[in-house]
Amino acid sequence: MNDDLIRRFVDEPEVSGLFFDFDGVLSDIVDLPWDARPVARAAEALESLAERFKLVAIVSGRGARELLAWLGSGVEIWGIHGAQHTLGGEVLLSERAEPYAELMERVQGDARRRIDELGIEGVLVEDKGVMFTIHYRAAKDRDAARLTLEKIAQEIAEGYGVVASPHKMAIEVRPPVEFTKAQVILQRSREAGLKKVAFVGDDVVDLPGFDALDALAREGVLTLRVAVDSDEAPAELLARADLILGGTAGVVSWMETLVSAVPPRG
Ligand SMILES: [Mg+2]
Repeated sequence: MNDDLIRRFVDEPEVSGLFFDFDGVLSDIVDLPWDARPVARAAEALESLAERFKLVAIVSGRGARELLAWLGSGVEIWGIHGAQHTLGGEVLLSERAEPYAELMERVQGDARRRIDELGIEGVLVEDKGVMFTIHYRAAKDRDAARLTLEKIAQEIAEGYGVVASPHKMAIEVRPPVEFTKAQVILQRSREAGLKKVAFVGDDVVDLPGFDALDALAREGVLTLRVAVDSDEAPAELLARADLILGGTAGVVSWMETLVSAVPPRG
């Protein structure tokens, strides 16, 4: 059944689209998020896919700028869950994020000032365009840093009417609108008039991507839910997948299979 699904998928590349998560799919999971890089041949395979299929896009929680530097402008990139995207090698704020750009700049300035005043070593504020992330993984006393920083982030969020949410060793501060991978997949698939859509994910945050495919399937789109298996792969993701690939190496070889099955556009 899987072979058949894949075959039907490559039959009409002119109406087919592929969406990929980045971390755990095209890059191996690393301790420090800024140490991640695409695995060998991933960038080349993406570019070759983009030359063959109607739409090839990355949908990631990362900022679009670093993804652009790693993957090049041949592939469509949606960063920060869709708050940013790339166009012709430029990073742009998405329509829904644009109205919050100025506010978020002020919020970030204020947060940086207050964090600097604390003088906790090993704390890093990462600018992600219309959002920012406070990392404390490198702090000597992570628990103390977490408590202090979460309190400050919460005060700032309440003061400005934005949202602060704790993550693993980090706090993300974002505008009061939701950006999700599902929105990106739905919007771009409909805009591009795709009849066949695949999404490759590895994590619980990718489940909404599968939901988006289910919504498209109800509109008559042929969908392919692809999960990447690893020690940390969530059972629900694997259970809902049409196709399971073995780690990032499995993803790259699957991409190369698709590339060799479809001639480049003339
Ligand atoms: Mg991931």
